[in-house]
Amino acid sequence: MKIGIIGAGFTGLTAGLILQKKGHQITILEKESVPGGLAVGFRAPGWDWSLEKFYHHIFTTDHYIRRLGDEVGVKFDFRRPNTSSLIDEEILQIDSPATVLFFPKLSMIERLRMGMVIGYLKYLASWERLEKYTIADWLPKMMGRHAYRILWEPLLMAKFSQYANEISLAWFWARVKARSTSLGYPRGGFQHLADSTAAKIGNMGGQIFYNLAVSQILQANNQLIVHCQDGQTYYFDKVIFTLSNAALVKIAPQLPTDYKEKLLSYRGIGAISMVLEFKKPFFRNQVYWLNICNDNYPFLAAVEQTNMIDKTHYHNHHLLYIANYLVPTHRYFQMTDSELLQEYHPFLNKLHHGYQNNLLKCYVFKASYAQPIMPVNYSQRVLPHQTPLKNVYLANMQQVYPWDRGTNYAVELGEKVSVTLAGDK
Ligand SMILES: Cc1cc2nc3c(=O)[nH]c(=O)nc-3n(C[C@H](O)[C@H](O)[C@H](O)COP(=O)(O)OP(=O)(O)OC[C@H]3O[C@@H](n4cnc5c(N)ncnc54)[C@H](O)[C@@H]3O)c2cc1C
Repeated sequence: MKIGIIGAGFTGLTAGLILQKKGHQITILEKESVPGGLAVGFRAPGWDWSLEKFYHHIFTTDHYIRRLGDEVGVKFDFRRPNTSSLIDEEILQIDSPATVLFFPKLSMIERLRMGMVIGYLKYLASWERLEKYTIADWLPKMMGRHAYRILWEPLLMAKFSQYANEISLAWFWARVKARSTSLGYPRGGFQHLADSTAAKIGNMGGQIFYNLAVSQILQANNQLIVHCQDGQTYYFDKVIFTLSNAALVKIAPQLPTDYKEKLLSYRGIGAISMVLEFKKPFFRNQVYWLNICNDNYPFLAAVEQTNMIDKTHYHNHHLLYIANYLVPTHRYFQMTDSELLQEYHPFLNKLHHGYQNNLLKCYVFKASYAQPIMPVNYSQRVLPHQTPLKNVYLANMQQVYPWDRGTNYAVELGEKVSVTLAGDK
């Protein structure tokens, strides 16, 4: 069968790998010049590993992507880096039961209560009973308002902005359930993993075309006709579409109106990532991940990559991400890199006074669709892979509920959509 896959992120790459192995003729069409999607990397002169434009790591429980790594010969290394929170301008480590037990901003009763709630969620086997509650309702009732307000509310607000109060407790359960204190990273970076997967698809006879933005999918005479922006046309028996729901509405005009309306009713949020390259470390106490729980800060986390991955891979420089999730209409999306740095500057200076003296370079990356919004009872809204347009299959991050978007779930999704497609006549 001739199968077209739109998008060479981890969903598209995994589906391509599996279906090519099954003997189908795979063609992946990708808008960018390299594979990897939201996990794509870049490499500055002198670096021997690439760095993701948006921070990335995996958890020990991320079996799907670890298996993909094994298959294409890319190893993951696991470490236990320091995760902390910034509360009232104080950096406090909070990444293990012991650090929760001694957490100074909460009373002993509050710490015990929080520990019990997290423990309960961690050991609860399923999420179905939880999905009718919002995190914003359930969590303060269970762990107490003060603990919620200090630690969790700022994170929820930062991650989901105006949608924070709508997010289903099942999503929170999934985050607690899947998280490990050890974090994994592929040797060479996620770009190396994407490149190795793409190379394996190529070695088996599959084709990947880059710099090709698909503009339309049409169905005629039992065939799918895929038009690209540069005027090229491809013909397939089946197509897997891995972009956002909104993109499917634009690209597949023959879809029925009610399905298009449904697709457009799903919401997502964008992300802006700033990467700062330094001569010296940014954090003095080896912090890898700093959650910002002070709501006056203009960003949600600061992540020092080189406190998890050895700086020798980046020309002995130190790399810091400044992370933000924002609605795509937010004014930061219109700012130049230096305007954004100016906006962040007073707050970076609070975290490390005089940081500018060591600053070598600033890179900014923006994605208008990065994080799906999953409100209560979302399981009833998860779309099947088959779309009403025969032989067109949808596989994107809106379908990995209750799990948080992630490369592991992209790999799982790629596996699932391949099984569905192969099973259909
Ligand atoms: C800020 C941030 C932090 C993250 N952190 C982590 C993390 O720590 N760990 C983790 O595992 N995951 C993380 N993720 C999530 C992870 O990157 C994604 O969930 C995953 O990569 C999604 O893969 P995908 O293939 O489904 O979609 P995508 O990666 O979005 O792939 C879609 C592909 O389609 C291509 N495309 C778009 N339009 C067209 C077109 N018209 N024609 C052809 N191709 C097109 C795109 O260029 C892209 O390559 C993070 C994401 C963000 C934004």
